[in-house]
Amino acid sequence: MTAVAPTRPTRWRFSPLGLFEALATPHGVDRYLELVNPMLTVRDLRAEVTEVHRSTADTVTLTLRPTRQWRGFQAGQFVQVTVEIDGVRRTRCYSPACSQYRDDGRIELTIKAHPDGIVSQFLHANAAPGLVVGLAQAAGTFQLPQERPGHVLFISGGSGITPVLSMLRTLCDEGYAGQVTFLHYGYTEQDIAYRDELVALAAQHDNVRLVLAYTDQADGGDLHGYFGQEHLEAVAPWHADAETFLCGPPGLMASVRSLYAERGLINRLHFEDFAPAPIVADRDSTGAVSFDRTGRSADNSGATLLEQAEAAGLTPAYGCRMGICFSCTQIKTSGCTRNIRTGAIDADPDTEIQLCISVPVGDVALDL
Ligand SMILES: Cc1cc2nc3c(=O)[nH]c(=O)nc-3n(C[C@H](O)[C@H](O)[C@H](O)COP(=O)(O)OP(=O)(O)OC[C@H]3O[C@@H](n4cnc5c(N)ncnc54)[C@H](O)[C@@H]3O)c2cc1C
Repeated sequence: MTAVAPTRPTRWRFSPLGLFEALATPHGVDRYLELVNPMLTVRDLRAEVTEVHRSTADTVTLTLRPTRQWRGFQAGQFVQVTVEIDGVRRTRCYSPACSQYRDDGRIELTIKAHPDGIVSQFLHANAAPGLVVGLAQAAGTFQLPQERPGHVLFISGGSGITPVLSMLRTLCDEGYAGQVTFLHYGYTEQDIAYRDELVALAAQHDNVRLVLAYTDQADGGDLHGYFGQEHLEAVAPWHADAETFLCGPPGLMASVRSLYAERGLINRLHFEDFAPAPIVADRDSTGAVSFDRTGRSADNSGATLLEQAEAAGLTPAYGCRMGICFSCTQIKTSGCTRNIRTGAIDADPDTEIQLCISVPVGDVALDL
């Protein structure tokens, strides 16, 4: 006979917070507390901008003080920042540029203003001390290995400097003794965010070598023009024995990836994309996409469901447009979709799908 543990009668305990939450339903306590002070939250993670600095014409560097729910980050990871613009909440991913050991618990983000970007333009123009933004816990697998490698090569371009600078600052804080080369690309000297900090780090650490490459400036700097095998050989002839961490614009990412692939070194290359690779719409697409809540529908163009929804005049939430942040998740009520990253087919009704990486296969209906 099997012994059954006696069950204790559940004891009801009075919780002032539970009562407050019950009374606050359906809005949640934080919706009321934010009327008093938006940084006073029970559940929501938020952050207050405490400093704003513009080191180049098209970037803004923000220091953020997160609320007590913040659990910290590992160098290389990203956070999701939510801002309200004209009454619409928009979420985007940003990689902290500071060391993971920063002792005041604040995080530093550097954001490049994209010419037609909604959130980056807003923050570049409007961020000021006192602005409170929504924050999500850090995520992402672009990280240094726990056992630090003996040789590290960082390659970055433009705003892609942020996660690799965080790694460099973290290694310096750890007293890392291995060899580090930091190869960074910018149009000109004026476009290099963190130029002074990089020069200072290299001057303070004998094992850190800084190489600045200018693509649109013929003098100054250490290298000129775009990345290619000559740059790699000149800067890190030992790259086959190192771990390489890469982040930058799509052209730089593609050149480094293809050179490493050619040389059979792809498993020594770790990278983070800030922007999705262009998606070629499926020209043999059939069927129609219908948006149940708004009553709209359109012929399936073969593009992602996010693009098809936008083309139909809808404005669904999105964050990364490449399947990593899940901001665009919606319910597919019927039909079949293909995940463009994995190729997986989903034919189940009433399932959650990520609009930015799903394309319809025939008729699809969304709860949108
Ligand atoms: C992991 C990760 C980390 C990141 N870290 C940083 C960082 O540290 N610093 C930084 O500056 N950026 C970073 N980014 C990029 C950042 O998340 C945003 O993508 C960037 O700030 C642009 O956002 P936006 O709202 O200004 O532009 P959006 O308004 O989202 O537009 C950006 C671009 O998306 C395309 N787009 C917009 N709407 C459409 C549409 N309807 N159809 C097709 N294409 C469209 C356009 O090409 C447009 O130029 C990171 C991204 C990721 C994924």
